[in-house]
Amino acid sequence: MRIVLLGAPGSGKGTQSQRLIERFHIPQISTGDLLRAAVAHGTPLGLQAKEAMAAGRLVADEIVLGMIRERLGEPDTRDGFILDGFPRNIAQARALDEMLAQVDQPLETVVQMNVDYSELSRRIAGRRTCTDCGKVVNLLTSPPETLEHERCPKTGQSHRLYQRPDDNEATVAERLRVYEAQTRPLIDYYRDQGLLRSIDAEGDVAVVSARLEQALKG
Ligand code: ADP
Repeated sequence: MRIVLLGAPGSGKGTQSQRLIERFHIPQISTGDLLRAAVAHGTPLGLQAKEAMAAGRLVADEIVLGMIRERLGEPDTRDGFILDGFPRNIAQARALDEMLAQVDQPLETVVQMNVDYSELSRRIAGRRTCTDCGKVVNLLTSPPETLEHERCPKTGQSHRLYQRPDDNEATVAERLRVYEAQTRPLIDYYRDQGLLRSIDAEGDVAVVSARLEQALKG
């Protein structure tokens, strides 16, 4: 199963990827996560990516494509993968098509996750990540008191939550603008290839998961 999840920041790509991993036992490949890890480790690549990420702009294609090429070469992608946050512009989509054509493993489905602009901003404002285990929660749906009792699998203590530095209001506005200008054209790109399915990605996480599974079946 070779899938791309396409959607604006805050549309739930990461959350739904986690559920697909459990359901289909294929890895999630998130360029955002790969880039954040590179930044955290202070690698040369991370240093180059840091400024664009903090400003809400796209990181240079050559950096992202290098990461993807390397990641898709790993053996756990043999039975498929979920791409989350990649591709993000037409040049990346074309490069991906070429990479996958070379190994005769073309994409099978692209699911567009639709969420209203106001809901996206609300979700991003409430988003927090556990410093230790990386779990992403939303304070809107999981208020702090409900999380107090949950144990972090890494520390056995309560989760230590932080807000991503690019989830501030100014950077979010730029990320949404970049999505409209550069990523939205991918909808037509994949529609023309006959790969596109669209789902309503608002509402309960489990309800959206059910819609997503339906879209993947259909
Ligand atoms: P979100 O989907 O919430 O915007 P991500 O974690 O996918 O968050 O991405 C965070 C940032 O990482 C982006 O704003 C961008 O700077 C960078 N990034 C992630 N994926 C890509 C990509 N495919 N191409 C270029 N930059 C990317």
